[in-house]
Amino acid sequence: MIDEKGILFILSGPSGVGKGTVRKELFNRANDLAYSISMTTREKRSGEAEGVDYFYKTNEEFERMIEAGQLLEYARFVNNYYGTPRKYVEDTLAEGKDVFLEIEVQGAMQVKNNFPEGVFIFLFPPSLEELKNRIVDRGTESQDLVLKRLKEAQNEIDMMDAYDYVVVNDDVNYAVTKIQSIIQSEHCRRDRIASQYKQLLKEE
Ligand code: 5GP
Repeated sequence: MIDEKGILFILSGPSGVGKGTVRKELFNRANDLAYSISMTTREKRSGEAEGVDYFYKTNEEFERMIEAGQLLEYARFVNNYYGTPRKYVEDTLAEGKDVFLEIEVQGAMQVKNNFPEGVFIFLFPPSLEELKNRIVDRGTESQDLVLKRLKEAQNEIDMMDAYDYVVVNDDVNYAVTKIQSIIQSEHCRRDRIASQYKQLLKEE
């Protein structure tokens, strides 16, 4: 048997590009991915649930987790903390399951430094105008927060160069299909599997 470790996939991109929607549709389709549920200090939105969308923490709890090294990455985004639990990711990968993170770009860059073998996918807006409309149309936030998110989005687009793949989110279904293709292709990469196959042949 080939003892293959899982692959870590990171979906990131500008605020408002639709990362959450794409991730939910990806997980609606049958697949073997494990979603890493993040920790956050932001308020629960209506329709969200503890342990489904996030693990909701106080500032103190979150800062204790940072101190204890329990987060693979974390970032402050629009006045709140967001972070990825290290143990869940490491244990799940060790079991041979792929893990999927959907995180903002500062956190993605930390994962890139600590976990360069991860596969980094940048979700790109169809156009800046469209991105702006989506942020403004969300309508759940104050004018001040909308402006902050727009400024953040401009900075984030400059960070695309650090990624392995770019997927334009002009259509959610099509974007998800492309992400599924990336996942399949990564499992076929010679540099990931050649040494394991060679080892297998030696053992026989
Ligand atoms: P929201 O508040 O809309 O749920 O998320 C705000 C942003 O935080 C989104 O861009 C989302 O992808 C990102 N995010 C969610 N979880 C994490 C995390 O664990 N780490 C980081 N760095 N960003 C996260």
